[in-house]
Amino acid sequence: MPDSVASPSVTPLRRFFAAVVQWFDSDYTPGGAERMRNEPDKVDWVRCIPFIVLHAGCLGIIWVGASAFAVWSAVVLYVVRMFAVTGIYHRYFSHKTYSTSRFGQFLLAIWGGTTVQRGGLWWAYHHRHHHQHSDQPEDAHSPHVHGFWWSHIGWITSRRNFPTDYSTIKDLAKYPELVWLNRFDTVVPVLFALSIFGLGAALETWAPGLGTDRWQMLVWGFFVSTTFLFHGTSCINSMAHLMGRRRFNTTDDSRNSFILAIICLGEGWHNNHHRYQSCTRNGFYWWEIDITYYGLKLLSWTGLIWGLKPVPKSIMEEAARADHLATIAAAQRASTGNLDAATLKKVVPAAAAIAVATATASESNLPKKSEGPGIHKNVAELTHDQKPADQPKAGK
Ligand SMILES: [Zn+2]
Ligand SMILES: [Zn+2]
Repeated sequence: MPDSVASPSVTPLRRFFAAVVQWFDSDYTPGGAERMRNEPDKVDWVRCIPFIVLHAGCLGIIWVGASAFAVWSAVVLYVVRMFAVTGIYHRYFSHKTYSTSRFGQFLLAIWGGTTVQRGGLWWAYHHRHHHQHSDQPEDAHSPHVHGFWWSHIGWITSRRNFPTDYSTIKDLAKYPELVWLNRFDTVVPVLFALSIFGLGAALETWAPGLGTDRWQMLVWGFFVSTTFLFHGTSCINSMAHLMGRRRFNTTDDSRNSFILAIICLGEGWHNNHHRYQSCTRNGFYWWEIDITYYGLKLLSWTGLIWGLKPVPKSIMEEAARADHLATIAAAQRASTGNLDAATLKKVVPAAAAIAVATATASESNLPKKSEGPGIHKNVAELTHDQKPADQPKAGK
């Protein structure tokens, strides 16, 4: 990590006001975005106040109570928006695993904005960086390097991780409408929250039999659902490199976990994904449930998206061999009772217990970059300006 380059000219007061402005304009970086990114990791408490308010808002259930409609709304909005995180921010903006029109891309970006996980360009920048430096010191959210809590929630509060590095996502940054949504990344979440509040008000008037109201809908549909959505997504950062089985001998410690695949609609097949990032599906077999892929398939039938990319035959052949080897390795390890939990030292006890219980087929040490198969380079290629999103509709 680079040494601190904080300038003595940036006073605490100036930094305070800059953080407040950044609530509304995430590209406001008076000292320069590059300098911010080179600072050491440190929680920016002022910048994080909206994030803290999001969590505190869940306590509103004490005052507003619950109704079946409000609780089910929270569940449905979790699923619909987890799909946006995985199917849009991840499989489209980060990896371009399918195509859409420019207008379709804009609609997807707005849908993604309702997740309250900052802008799609910020998300894609960090995610591509994760693939390029997985479980290495530069990886912003590796549980092996930074510990469980930092990888789960700490890294997103760190001042150095706030600015978007547009130079690494040129294929997206060339669209001003996407840059605008990324820069003013509170606009969509605020409109989304107001819409839920308005829906609650309408139901209060027109459907009193449902027993809900505007404040109850706001608390359950926005605060509770969004907070669960954040922590569900974060489980991939904190757990998907600790918990589950490894099919492919990738250069990181990514794993496949059924539990995480359910929580995150298919993202739990993380080892598959680290081995090959350019296909639309993360579950490579029919039994690897990948709800996001099923949703994207449905969406492709509407014509909004097309060109879903399959898993290459060579990868499936490698998977067949790798699965066999993993089974042998697991059997050998089970027979000797040699479960190595050394990599879990920094994990909280509960997470460690889950991880140890499910890590029977895992590698105990991270392979060096030079040992594993060459990682798929598509992320690196995407950082350079490539074809526009609105390619001719083909290859459906
Ligand atoms: Zn990815
Ligand atoms: Zn990963």
